[in-house]
Amino acid sequence: MVSGDASIESAISALRRGAYDFVRKPYEPDEILKRVQNALASRRLEVENRGMSKRLRRSEQWHRYLVHSSPDLIYSLDTEGRFTFVNKAVERILGFTKRELLGKHYSAIIHDEDILGVAQLFNERRTGERSSHGVELRLKRTDDNRLHSPKRFVPVELNAMGMYDNDSAGQRRFIGTYGVVRDIADRKQAEKTIAYQAYHDLLTALPNRALFQDRLAQAMTQAKRNITRLAVMFIDLDKFKFVNDSLGHVAGDKLLQALASRLRSCLREVDTLARMGGDEFVLLLPNINEASDATLIAEKILLALQEKFVIGDHELFASVSIGIVLYPDDASTSENLIKRADIAMYHAKNQGRNNYQLFNYTMDAQASGRLALVRDLRNALERNEFEVHYHPQVDIPSGRIIGLEALLRWKHPAHGLLSPSSFIHLAEETGIIGPIGEWVLRTVCGHAIEWRKAGHPLVRIAVNISPQQIQKPDFADKFLDLLGEYQIDPALIGIEITESTIMKDVEKTVPKLRKLRDMGVEISLDDFGTGYLSLSYLNKLPIHTIKVDQSFIRDIPQNAGHVSIVNAIATMARGLLLRLVIEGVETKTQLDSLVGIGCNEYQGFLFARPLSSEKTIELLRINHAGRRIEDKVAAQA
Ligand code: C2E
Ligand code: MG
Ligand code: MG
Repeated sequence: MVSGDASIESAISALRRGAYDFVRKPYEPDEILKRVQNALASRRLEVENRGMSKRLRRSEQWHRYLVHSSPDLIYSLDTEGRFTFVNKAVERILGFTKRELLGKHYSAIIHDEDILGVAQLFNERRTGERSSHGVELRLKRTDDNRLHSPKRFVPVELNAMGMYDNDSAGQRRFIGTYGVVRDIADRKQAEKTIAYQAYHDLLTALPNRALFQDRLAQAMTQAKRNITRLAVMFIDLDKFKFVNDSLGHVAGDKLLQALASRLRSCLREVDTLARMGGDEFVLLLPNINEASDATLIAEKILLALQEKFVIGDHELFASVSIGIVLYPDDASTSENLIKRADIAMYHAKNQGRNNYQLFNYTMDAQASGRLALVRDLRNALERNEFEVHYHPQVDIPSGRIIGLEALLRWKHPAHGLLSPSSFIHLAEETGIIGPIGEWVLRTVCGHAIEWRKAGHPLVRIAVNISPQQIQKPDFADKFLDLLGEYQIDPALIGIEITESTIMKDVEKTVPKLRKLRDMGVEISLDDFGTGYLSLSYLNKLPIHTIKVDQSFIRDIPQNAGHVSIVNAIATMARGLLLRLVIEGVETKTQLDSLVGIGCNEYQGFLFARPLSSEKTIELLRINHAGRRIEDKVAAQA
């Protein structure tokens, strides 16, 4: 090709010559212009060509760099499906060298089960179809140990483009395939983790409620088809709150993990143990013939839990309460199966924990009765259905009333007058005890003021306090504020609190009691002898009075053991300078033996039943008159 510079030079020399020729035979100006234009055009073309090949070279370099540094495997295949190119990523992803693959058919590295799908994709590219975008498949890895990972297959996503050109007759012709293969092992792992988390409890690694329900539905279908039974067990750890409160949540979590693996060790491969949340587990036992197959497993579980758990520095014993239902005997839907297993579990709890109960229909009736009672309880305050009755505490030598215990009563519209034993635990479980407790205290203050206005000299009134009430951080302040609001001397209103309530959270409860005691509120330890209070604690507690539980009184003097216990408590109370009140005295014989032991105060049906506020005031009037009043009251009751 004539160089551009040369053509310009020749044009210029032509011009020069032109000037010469002009003398001899001058060029036409148009001719000169054309010659210059031609020269310039050819120069421009040459410069452009040079730039283009430079750009082409750069772009090629750039593409080569991209292809080889790509984390994805980039490949091309010939028309037969043999590799004509693979980039370096192939070594990292599959462990093969480029040389090992070039010339090989793609099917050599594809998992047998995935070959059809890939062949279809490549076929579509051959015919120019563009229906599917790409496929997920598994590629084989080299089986020597060039790779750190021992996995034989790697999940990938593959896409492919067809390459075409035109043949001599101008027909479009398929000349091969190229595309990208992406290693999706991490993504698959992440998907697996997410799916795992959605169906498992992270603390214990057990299936969660959702997975349990899935498995239960499957097992029910199978049981129906094969005409067999299955069992569902509701398993609840006894007194788990105590572990959490006293040893902390970390220890609580560890106990749950240890419990989960202990429970698992009692099961067959086909059984599903799941954690429903908190300390509740459910167990699915497919293929059960008889109820006894299920109770056998329940017994195995109870037995396995007789072995202690070692949690950090602590040795713990954990027991569970188990409710069992059978399908199709006890319920036909998964929802009812779980619900009824839960009901049976509650019965196991009520039977003193650490046992199992098979569901029966009376339990269900009781459970729905319970639900109705909770519903009524929620409305009872608004409907003004509560009352406070008073039970006198009597000084034995003088026969006079020296105190009253306020006792809650519920005038239920359908069931009549209910005593707290039939509803107070529900009020506590549902938290309704909070407002009820405040109502009791206000009512007692209201009565005290009313009686004082009417000119009756007052005796101290003790109010029962539930665990939920005393656990409120501001309990003592609120209590004192309320007395302030009614302008009542704190010495006039006492509280009764049980050993077990104090022991639930000794550290937090004792300062509150101390605060109340320092303000003059009398504190009685109720139901003494039924809890686990260590006697060494008794000396440290800010209390004035011990109330001996009725269970020790019921069978004295016949039960010599109980006589000795009451005797010991009386001696201890004297030594610690504590007041002693005996609860539940019903007969003269009981009273006589108590007097023999040296007890001075009691509370019981022998003297009077708990009385309405109106009757109480009458009694206080007689009391004030200084007469012995047992006979009169006994006659009234
Ligand atoms: P408690 O504090 O030990 O109350 C004494 C219970 O023994 C009362 O039962 C009383 O009626 C009963 N009792 C007293 N003397 C005799 C007797 O000689 N024979 C028999 N068989 N029983 C006797 P009640 O009123 O049914 O109360 C039961 C429990 O309910 C109480 O036991 C107390 O723990 C709780 N309670 C009562 N009122 C309230 C309240 O206002 N708030 C809270 N949180 N609990 C209350
Ligand atoms: Mg009491
Ligand atoms: Mg009591």
